[in-house]
Amino acid sequence: MLLLHPSRRRSLCAFGRPYAGRRLMGNKFSDIQITKVMPEHRVFFMGLKESKAIQVPSELQLAFHKYAKQNLRSFPWRQPSISPYHLLLAELLLAQTKAHDVATVWPTLINRYPTPERLARANVSSLSSLLRRLGLQNQRAKALRLLARHLVEEYQGQLPSTVLELLSLPHVGLYTATAVSSFAFGKHVPIVDANVLRVFARIFGLPEQRELRRSQKVWAIGWALLPNRRVAQHNYALLDFAAQVCTPRAPRCDACHIRRCCAYGITKPGTDRSP
Ligand code: SF4
Repeated sequence: MLLLHPSRRRSLCAFGRPYAGRRLMGNKFSDIQITKVMPEHRVFFMGLKESKAIQVPSELQLAFHKYAKQNLRSFPWRQPSISPYHLLLAELLLAQTKAHDVATVWPTLINRYPTPERLARANVSSLSSLLRRLGLQNQRAKALRLLARHLVEEYQGQLPSTVLELLSLPHVGLYTATAVSSFAFGKHVPIVDANVLRVFARIFGLPEQRELRRSQKVWAIGWALLPNRRVAQHNYALLDFAAQVCTPRAPRCDACHIRRCCAYGITKPGTDRSP
């Protein structure tokens, strides 16, 4: 069994309760043929297998649940009525630019190209001039059009819901596939982008390296932390916690309610460690 959490050596966690590990129940992807997935994507599925051998503090999951109740950011693409295709467009832009900037362009994008069929017929130069506002080049416009054509030809204009199917779309990477599958379809899948990776690395005392995103261990943590219900809310909480509390340069450890379960938080100089 992997022992990842440094605070397991402590008798009490920040929440004043004895440390309690949690096992992920069930294996929703047990029969998936991972040989169909590109090698760098296999860690996602291997992480699920590995997560059965990992225990994470149940308090951590509860902490993200509580965080989601009061602190989730509001963006137009997070509205429940947003179509999966429109959400996919937002996630593709968010992978390249900041949310604040995406909010200035995304409404126009989905108004001009409300369906994959319309985007598949887009004029590249007019699409490019819109995306240029985000600093994106012609290549991005061509990529979006190619993706839309693939959706029309292979999926009759309907966005597929599983990570495997989404990964089959051109220019859709592992983060985007998991985000869309979770946020738009409520699928039981974790997300790990560079920001979530930073949070996991600090909590579990892993080195903060970009390559970690391709680590089975990081995905195993993602799977083990995933609640059985309200998966999209949990994943949004991870993203927003990373953006608002566990920030890249100046994490707000003193105000962080999980600092006593966090390898970085309990060792950071100057952190108030009183209960
Ligand atoms: S204690 Fe600090 S490093 Fe740890 S999760 Fe909280 S903000 Fe991030």
